[in-house]
Amino acid sequence: MKNKPMSIAILPGDGIGEEITKPCVKLLQQALAKVGEAPLIERWLEAGAGAYTKLGEALPQTTIDGCRSADAILLAAMGDPSVRYPDGTEIIPQIDLRFELELYAGVRPVRSVKGVKGPLADPRGDKLDFVLVRESTEGLFASVGKGTRDELQATDTQVITRKGTARVSDFAFRLAQQRKEKGHPGELTCVDKANVFKSMAFFRDVFDEAAAAYPDITRRYGYVDAVALEMVRRPWIYDVMVTENMFGDILSDLAAGLIGGLGMAPSADIGDDHAVFQPCHGSAPDIAGSGKANPTAMFLSGAMMFEWLAGEKNNPAAGKAGRMIVAAVDDAYADGSLVSTERGGNAGVVEISDAVGAALDALEPADRRIS
Ligand code: ATP
Repeated sequence: MKNKPMSIAILPGDGIGEEITKPCVKLLQQALAKVGEAPLIERWLEAGAGAYTKLGEALPQTTIDGCRSADAILLAAMGDPSVRYPDGTEIIPQIDLRFELELYAGVRPVRSVKGVKGPLADPRGDKLDFVLVRESTEGLFASVGKGTRDELQATDTQVITRKGTARVSDFAFRLAQQRKEKGHPGELTCVDKANVFKSMAFFRDVFDEAAAAYPDITRRYGYVDAVALEMVRRPWIYDVMVTENMFGDILSDLAAGLIGGLGMAPSADIGDDHAVFQPCHGSAPDIAGSGKANPTAMFLSGAMMFEWLAGEKNNPAAGKAGRMIVAAVDDAYADGSLVSTERGGNAGVVEISDAVGAALDALEPADRRIS
């Protein structure tokens, strides 16, 4: 039986944004057709540096309204170093959107894809499967647009609240539980700097309070500097980690490096009522328009969107479509011949989109990865 069509706010943004959004939406529609579902209702909306130049607003109210009324939001990338606000800062409305829609849980899965060799010599480095959860509405980013600066000093203040920490900790514990049901260890690491900063000791205390409701999950702790080391030395020790906004920003790029680059790293920013799905990378202005961009992170973000919609809208077919996209990505890369330009190969947007589209086409409905 067909479910009600899902309406998606689509924000291609700047730089490589549009180049990777078009094939992504095509792939999402292809997956829905394959599971016999109605096509997505596409609502393409303007936001970003281009919108700022054209309309004088980086995140127009019509875009915010369109995001609020959609079932989910698919965002590519925003920002252009050559377009700045009068104070010199870059246009980053994707961060404003996280605040506006209270998207407090930044989910960054770090999953190796077979055939995409990571940088580590140890073979366990090519079989990674952990998730970094980044608090996305406060921390050091609470200071965006509010910091101070004069001739002698500049300040940005880190804000950690009980509400913000409790809800992201709860989210991460629930995620660890869901993963445990699928055979993962059921461990959650709190990543902080509780030995130095009051705000971070508070973060850890609130994390500990949240832990009481999840006795089935093993709690671990790591100082962010030590975790950065371990993520290079033996990242396979992690299952789920939760951390402050800025630490999460940095560690998620490090994590992307472990699985073949930013073009392979999907993400989601999830709140209680809305969610944005967006690759970890930025607008990559250095390669925009060259065709070199890797759209895989965008595809996998779309797959995460379908998985989320499956739960939110009680639409199991969407989950199936999401798992099909993941399986198609895996199949496209499996023999190692598809090598993106960021890894020194020749495959860009067209080659990778074609390969994943063909792999999706070839998937058998009975494939056990999908059911
Ligand atoms: P932001 O701060 O907005 O996240 P950033 O400063 O981290 O952005 P990116 O735009 O993510 O920068 O780009 C960092 C580097 O990674 C650039 O050299 C860019 O070309 C490369 N890169 C980013 N995304 C991709 C992609 N999808 N495919 C190939 N290369 C990419």
